Amino acid sequence: TVTLRDIHKSFGDTDVLRGVSLDIADGEFVSLVGPSGCGKSTLLRIIAGLESQSSGQMAIGGTPVDGVRAADRNLSMVFQSYALYPHLTVAENIAVPLRMRQLSTAQRLPVVGSFLPGASAANNAISARVAEAAETLEIGALLNRKPGQLSGGQRQRVALGRALVRNPAAFLLDEPLSNLDAKLRVHTRLEIAELHKRLGATFIYVTHDQVEAMTMSDRIAVMMGGEILQCDTPDRIYEDPSDLRVAEFIGSPK
Ligand code: ATP
Ligand code: MG
Repeated sequence: TVTLRDIHKSFGDTDVLRGVSLDIADGEFVSLVGPSGCGKSTLLRIIAGLESQSSGQMAIGGTPVDGVRAADRNLSMVFQSYALYPHLTVAENIAVPLRMRQLSTAQRLPVVGSFLPGASAANNAISARVAEAAETLEIGALLNRKPGQLSGGQRQRVALGRALVRNPAAFLLDEPLSNLDAKLRVHTRLEIAELHKRLGATFIYVTHDQVEAMTMSDRIAVMMGGEILQCDTPDRIYEDPSDLRVAEFIGSPK
C-alpha cells in the first residue's frame, strides 16, 4: 500500500500541492490525471523520494518513508524523457538500479565493491536479471546498442526495462507514452496493462490522456490546482463526477 496524508508542497511561496490524501492498495492501477501544472509530476516525485514534501505523512507498505532514500524505496520511476545515460549501452542502462543497490550495500560494509567475496557472482546475477527484463520487453537484441542508436519506442522500452529490473513493489510512470506516435502509444498502452496484470505490482500512472486513464485504471484521481478533486473507478468518475470541473475535464455528459 501507498498512503498519503495531507501532503503539501511549496516552491518558494507557490503552493503546488495543497493537502493531497490518497490510499493505494497493493496491485492497484491508479492514474493521476489533470491539467498541465496541477502537480502530478511533483506528487509522483515525492512518492519516489526524489523530492520531499513540505508537510504531511507518507507510508509505503505501512512503513513511514520520510528520510528513506529514493534508491532504498522499493519502487521504480519511469520518466517522460526516459532519462537514459547516452554513453552507456542498453544493458548497462538497465543494470543501473542494481548497480546502485550494490553500491549502497557495499557502503554499509567495511570492504568495498569488487573486493567483496562473491562480487563476480553478484555481477552474473545482475546480467541474468538484465537479460530477463530485456526478454520481457522484447529488446534482447538491442543490449549492446547505445540509446542514440534506438527509436523512441525502443528507448521507452529500455526505460521500462530499467524500472522492471529491480522487481519493485510499485511502478511510478510519468506520461511514459507521450513521446510515441499514436499507433505505438496504443500498442504500448496494452503492453503496460499486460505487464501490470502479469506482475501484480502497484502502478501509479500519470497521463494527460483521459482515454488512456479510462481504459487502463482501477481508479482515476482527478487533480486540479494541487488537490485531488475525486478518486474513483473510471465508471463512477464518468457517470457521477463530484463536480463540474471533474465533469469538464473527463468530458462527461453532465
Ligand atoms: P504537466 O502535465 O505539464 O507535466 P504537472 O501536473 O506534472 O504538469 P508539475 O510538474 O507537478 O505539474 O508542476 C506543478 C507546478 O509546480 C507548476 O506550476 C510548476 O511550475 C511548479 N514546479 C514544479 N517543480 C518546481 C521547482 N523545482 N521549482 C519551482 N516550481 C516548480
Ligand atoms: Mg508533469
